[in-house]
Amino acid sequence: MIGVTSKLKARFPQLAIVGSGYSYLQEWLPNVAQFYVRTGQVDFVGLGRVVLSYPELPSDVLSGRSLQTKRLCRTFSDCTTGPRNGLVSGCFPLDSFYRTHPHAQLVRAIKINRADSPLPPADPRPPENLVAVPRDPDNPEVATVEGPGSTGE
Ligand code: SF4
Repeated sequence: MIGVTSKLKARFPQLAIVGSGYSYLQEWLPNVAQFYVRTGQVDFVGLGRVVLSYPELPSDVLSGRSLQTKRLCRTFSDCTTGPRNGLVSGCFPLDSFYRTHPHAQLVRAIKINRADSPLPPADPRPPENLVAVPRDPDNPEVATVEGPGSTGE
């Protein structure tokens, strides 16, 4: 993606280009972003999912403070799994607010079901009709999503 935006900027220098996909660079995000902006290969760097886990990243970088590496987005994609299944979006693994949100357990259950079930993962039911039911009382990570019309599988 970085290569494509660089080529677009070279081909259309008058066009303002915003680079994307930089969250995947994690600790290297600021260095790579600085290089591509400084060398004119992109005009801006847009931040997407990393602002869910670490909204202060730009101010930390611009102020010269060290990165809070434990808050860097690790691209687990829970923030997109939620809305794809009718749940809220948030950084469930790293943000303390969303870690304790009722939808965090539902997102975990959806991911577990995806791994070991041939059923389609997307569930069009509204989230208030879903409930995570632990399969193993000693391990709350193992759960299934149930609701009206669900078979519990
Ligand atoms: S849920 Fe995963 S992908 Fe989304 S912001 Fe948090 S760490 Fe990044």
